[in-house]
Amino acid sequence: MDCIDLRSDTVTWPTPEMRQAMANAAVGDDVFGDDPTVNRLQDEAARRFGKESGLFVTSGTMGNLVAVLAHCGRGDEVILGDKAHTFVYEAGGIAVLGGVHPHTVPVQPDGTLPLDLIRQAIRPDNIHMPVTRLILLENTHGSMSGVPIPKDYIDSVGEIAQEHGLALHIDGARIFNAATALNCDVADLTAAADSVTFCLSKGLCAPAGSILVGSREFITKARRVRKILGGGMRQVGVLAAAGLIALNTMTRRLADDHANARRLAEGLAAMPQFEIDLTSVQTNIMFFSLRDDAGITAPQLADKLKAHNIKLMSMGQRDFRIVTHYWIRPEHVDQVLAAIQEELPS
Ligand SMILES: *Cc1c(COP(=O)(O)O)cnc(C)c1O
Repeated sequence: MDCIDLRSDTVTWPTPEMRQAMANAAVGDDVFGDDPTVNRLQDEAARRFGKESGLFVTSGTMGNLVAVLAHCGRGDEVILGDKAHTFVYEAGGIAVLGGVHPHTVPVQPDGTLPLDLIRQAIRPDNIHMPVTRLILLENTHGSMSGVPIPKDYIDSVGEIAQEHGLALHIDGARIFNAATALNCDVADLTAAADSVTFCLSKGLCAPAGSILVGSREFITKARRVRKILGGGMRQVGVLAAAGLIALNTMTRRLADDHANARRLAEGLAAMPQFEIDLTSVQTNIMFFSLRDDAGITAPQLADKLKAHNIKLMSMGQRDFRIVTHYWIRPEHVDQVLAAIQEELPS
């Protein structure tokens, strides 16, 4: 890449190997089910997650929207976190397009929803109320420093869902980061879920695309919803070719990104101008703040770093978010720390 871009892992360029595979991809009309590369990607993703079927979708947002619309009808309710991406950052699509009612529960610092609050949120059979249909979890949790949520917790939520005849969907945009940090298998981690979305873009470097996995019956429904949303694409094997490398190769190197995040976080923690909770830095995302008396605002520091060819995201006057990814190497981390040190008022 042409700069050290720490704003997000969405900024990742496809790798040279991906560009090569895209150029040579076998393709067909995927709406006819004729694209061999898409079919292979969907099959391999389903197998990796221990589910029956997979569906290639344009984005994580579409994956979650398709999943919620395939699980729920109009007037049904989904229980999800008050900081969940689907609740906050997907433009209210589940309500706008699906008539699905969100019922939020406060997300804890570890990314979980308290089990007793999930139980309390489930509606009794009462004509005054919406019908609870779905529970949605996010793993890793993006707004909570990318914390990974362990299998035990997901299994407990799965038991509640099963007790009440509800479905469980996991927004696993970064589920491979979670599996890497927890040192477990994604199929095991998501065994209790009826459906999972994950992003091939972001840290896995594909230029676009996400996958939704679930039962054969569920994916048949989801395929129709995808068509309704305008997500039926044609010779999209050119994207799926990059997706196969994302799935098969890039998922196995995420520990490097986590190590770089750790290295960066520890460097920042050593500077007295910053506040950072090192225990929260478990994957590739970190949030940190300038202290009141740092003598510089976050936008001012971000602006100064541009001259060093470094981009990072400031939020408000004191807060930053940094995300590491494939194109950030240990030497970049050291360069970033040195540049910050140089630009901070002493
Ligand atoms: C990025 C993200 C999405 C949405 O993915 P897009 O491809 O940007 O639409 C959904 N959930 C989480 C947790 C994400 O981080």
